[in-house]
Parts: sequence; C-alpha cells; structure tokens
Amino acid sequence: MKYIDEFRNFDIAAKIFRLIKEEAKDLEPVNFMEVCGTHTMAVERFGIRRMLPENVRLISGPGCPVCVTPKNYIDRAIALTNLEDVIVFSFGDMLKVPGTNTSLFKQKSRGKARVVYSAFDAALFAEKNQNKKIVFLGIGFETTSPTVAATVKYAKKKRLKNFFVYSGHKVMPPAMKLLAEDKKVNIKGFLCPAHVSAIIGMKSYARICEGYNIPCVIAGFEPLDILHSVLMLIRQVKSNKAKVENQYNRVVKFSGNIKALQLIDEVFSINDSDWRGIGVIKNSGLVLSKGYMDFDAEKKIDLPDIKTSADKGCICGSVLKGIKTPLDCGLFSKKCNPDNPYGACMVSSEGACAAYYRYRK
Ligand code: SF4
Repeated sequence: MKYIDEFRNFDIAAKIFRLIKEEAKDLEPVNFMEVCGTHTMAVERFGIRRMLPENVRLISGPGCPVCVTPKNYIDRAIALTNLEDVIVFSFGDMLKVPGTNTSLFKQKSRGKARVVYSAFDAALFAEKNQNKKIVFLGIGFETTSPTVAATVKYAKKKRLKNFFVYSGHKVMPPAMKLLAEDKKVNIKGFLCPAHVSAIIGMKSYARICEGYNIPCVIAGFEPLDILHSVLMLIRQVKSNKAKVENQYNRVVKFSGNIKALQLIDEVFSINDSDWRGIGVIKNSGLVLSKGYMDFDAEKKIDLPDIKTSADKGCICGSVLKGIKTPLDCGLFSKKCNPDNPYGACMVSSEGACAAYYRYRK
C-alpha cells in the first residue's frame, strides 16, 4: 500500500476487526498500552478503543512530550523570561501549559516568549540579535533531540555566545521499563511509538520484551496499522512468546537512524529525569554533554529557587501511567477544557485528555 486512503480502507478494517474478535474470543482480559501521543490521537479519532472487544483494553501511556514535562520545568522557563535580556523560544503547545502562577503564553505578550517551529529558527534569531540571550526549550523524545543536537553543533560552529538550550529531553525505553514493572498497570503488550522507533530502531525494545516477557509491536499511525498491530499483540499473547515485531517496517529499521543516534550521543549525555506525575526515572533524560556545556541554560544562566505547587484535582500522572483515563477526572470538560486547560494533558495536541475531549465530546 502506498497512499493514506489505502491505510484507512473500511473493508480491510472490518476484516481485521473480525480477526481480532475471533482471536480474542478466549483471551483473559489484557491491557495493551499505546505509548505514543500520536497513536492516542489516532486511536480516539478513528474510534478504535471503543470498538475493540471488552477483554482487549487499549490504554494510553506517557508518549506526549508536553504532558510529561514537569510543572517545575514550566515554572523555571517562566522565571527565565523574567530575566533581563533573556527571550525564551519554544514550540507552541508549551506556551499554553499553566505554571504555578502564570504561563509562558502570558509572557509572550511582553515579547519575552516566542513560538518557533524548530530549534534552528531560535539559533538564527540568536545570531542576528547578539545583545539578547536566547534560550530554546528543548523538550521531546528521541524524535526531536537529534535536530536540537544539530542546532547546538551549528551554534558551536558559529561561536554563538548567546544561544542556550534548557534541556527537558527524555528517552522512552526507561519509562516503558518502569511501566512494565508496575503491577497496577499490568501491561500485556506495548504498541511501541513509531516516530521514536524510527530513530532508536527495533533493537531498543529487546530488553523490555525479553526482561518482562511483554510483546512489543512497533505500529504505524493509520487505522489499519494500529488494528494490525493490536492483532499482532493478541497473537503473541496467545502464543505466550513475547517478541519485538515491526509492523511499521516501511519506516522503522532494526538499528534505527544511525546518524541521528550519533548526533544525540555527541551532544547529549544521559541523566535521571523527572516526568510529570510519574517522578524521577533513572537514565531517562538528556542533558548537554561536556563538550557542549557552554550552551546549557541551566549551567550558564543563574535562576533563583522556584517553588512549584501541585495541580489540585488534576490526575495527569495517573493518566500518563495508564492507571486512569481522562473520563475519571472530575475536572474533565468542566473546569478543564482546551480553551482553559488546567493540566498539561489537555493542552497538547498529543495529550490523552485533549484527544478524549476532541473526539468524545
Ligand atoms: S482533564 Fe485536565 S485536570 Fe483532568 S487530568 Fe486531564 S489535564 Fe488534568
């Protein structure tokens, strides 16, 4: 198949649904987790979650980069905008996430926070405005970190003294490992993230799969991709043999994107990282490595201690771990909606709460 329409073919979808129903007939109830925010959107958009048999439960995981960025990071980014000569650059969704007292969006009207489509745009701005300190908010998974790494290399080559990255980058496998260990979530299979897998490759899931006997299927984003991947997971569970399978083999390779991985390795080092509502996960974050420390906002710009308060009533953490759904939140669609988001999962275009609101309201 070559065209999007073919991956949305109703007759083929119906056939796969019939196969899923047939194969799942005698199955004990299972939880499969879609780890990627783009999968969550597609699953809701095409109504896949609600059409699966009752004993096959698809739950959402921590695959939305804006959602997993902790509130303290937002508060610190806002504090950066209060410093003279500092302008913060970020992807759009981040600006709308509420901090403890305000949001980056409110700082935008003061010209202290700006939206860019790439880290490179921020570096170009820094090059042309050397009297300002430009801080780029580096958030996202292995999908975005290579482009930020390439930008930092560019800044080094150009000897920019006024470009910095505040790194909140995260890597996915340690979070999946943590969830695989969590008996409360009780995951019987992962729909592995497609974009992330294009970078890290199929090989990166072997330890999770073998270590916890959890089937892993790398899934594409179209409805037939997702349905086919669910069927593959069911078949693995029934055969009681966990393996890593690559349904998205038109994009994802066994070893991933070697060049992108080399860029990440050169510019970043692994460290422990705080995930919103989940806590610190060992070796799950990226900070700038020794050779690129001059571009590390945390090292080069002094910030006072920031006090962050919790979002009362928001259950984003449980939603991100797959323990609860947005419908379990008392604030969903009332106090919290896309026009007035109370928590990060309602802000992002990849957030589970935003997906439920958009396609279930
Ligand atoms: S609906 Fe809003 S308040 Fe509730 S969990 Fe989602 S983001 Fe948080």
